Amino acid sequence: MQISSEKVVAIHYTLKDNTGQTLDSSEGKQPLYYLHGFGNLIPGMEEGLEGKQTGDAFQVTIAPEKGYGLRNEDYVQQVPVDAFGGTIPQVGMQFQAGNDEGRYIVTVAAVDGDLVTVDANHPLAGVELHFSVEVIEVREATADEIAHGHVHGPGGAH
Ligand code: ZN
Repeated sequence: MQISSEKVVAIHYTLKDNTGQTLDSSEGKQPLYYLHGFGNLIPGMEEGLEGKQTGDAFQVTIAPEKGYGLRNEDYVQQVPVDAFGGTIPQVGMQFQAGNDEGRYIVTVAAVDGDLVTVDANHPLAGVELHFSVEVIEVREATADEIAHGHVHGPGGAH
């Protein structure tokens, strides 16, 4: 069965950056299950998987525009160290922040005395992604899965 919209797909994947460093991998874990064609994966990944079938193994390079987006320097802000409520922020630490539009993760980019630079860009924004992918399973989605926009059962949401 070929991958197309309204198919449930299970994949194993390994993600590397331009330097060959592994950023993420499903190796040794359960495969990733997703519902194809519903924007559950980044666009470049769904494009790479379109038309593939069980047992296919391939590599795909994804530009930031089809991955986690470009960096937005407006998302980099300086905040007073007092905003951390007694925690001493250090470069690389991640905190959950929030506003009316939802919650997001900020990463401490720099600490300069009482001023802390935080970056709310996705950690993979602006990064070219190199995926190795293996298709483990392809099946028809159920009506419920299509209505909900996600996978049920093994590897799914419920
Ligand atoms: Zn559901």
